[in-house]
Amino acid sequence: MRQLIAGNWKMFGKRADIEAFTAALRADAPAHVDMLVCPPFTLLDRFASTLAGSKIALGGQDCHPAAEGAHTGDISAAMIRDVGASHVILGHSERRTNHGETNAVVRGKAEAAIAAGLTPVICVGETEAEREAGEAEAVVRSQLAHSLPAQFSGVVAYEPVWAIGTGRTPTEDDVASMHAAIRKALVEQLGTAGAAIAILYGGSVKPANAAALLALPEVGGALVGGASLKAADFLAIATAAPL
Ligand code: PEP
Repeated sequence: MRQLIAGNWKMFGKRADIEAFTAALRADAPAHVDMLVCPPFTLLDRFASTLAGSKIALGGQDCHPAAEGAHTGDISAAMIRDVGASHVILGHSERRTNHGETNAVVRGKAEAAIAAGLTPVICVGETEAEREAGEAEAVVRSQLAHSLPAQFSGVVAYEPVWAIGTGRTPTEDDVASMHAAIRKALVEQLGTAGAAIAILYGGSVKPANAAALLALPEVGGALVGGASLKAADFLAIATAAPL
C-alpha cells in the first residue's frame, strides 16, 4: 500500500503562504507516496485552485455531523467536498480536548463525511497519564470501538496526545506495538475491510525521525502538524517514506 503523508496546518496560514508552498509540492512531491494537505477552512478554496491538476489531495480539519442547518460557525462535510477536498481530519486530540468532542460525536462526523463522499482521517491516541498507567492500548481500542462507524472506510491516525507538538515521540517498539494492536482491533471490528485501512503515525514527525517511524510495520504514513507548514520539511518527510 502506498503511504499517505498528510499535513495538518491547524490554525496557521494565510493566503499569501499558499503559492510558494504549493509550487514546491508540485515540483518535488515524491511519486511513491500520496500527499494530503489539510489547511484551515479559509484557505481550502484557494488551495483547491492552486493544487488543481496535481496529485496532492486536500482535506478539512473538522466537519459538523449534520448535512446542513442552523449551526453558526460550523462547516458541513458537503461544503468541504464542494470546494474540491477529498479528506477530513476528525477527532484530533485538540478538538477532543478543546471542544469536548466525544467518541460518539466523532462517529457522527465520520458518518457525515462518508455520506458526503469524503475520506475521514480519524485520530486516536492516549494521554501521557494513560500511557504511564499502562492503559494506552485499552484507551485506543475504546476510541476505535466508539469513534468508527460500523461501515467505516477511511484512514486511522495514531497520535499519542503527549507527542503532539512536543518534540517527543514514543519508542519505535511502542509505535510498532500500538500499530499492531490497532490493526488487530480494526480487523475484529470491521472484518476484512479492517485489514486494508491505512494507519498513520502522528506526533512530532520531523525530517530527522521520519525514515525510522515510516519504516515500522503497520505504519501506513504520517499525520504531520508543525513540520507540514514548511514545504521543505514536509517534502523531506514524504521522501523518507519507504519505497
Ligand atoms: C498533529 O497536529 O496532528 C501533529 C501530529 O502535530 P505535530 O506534528 O506538530 O506534533
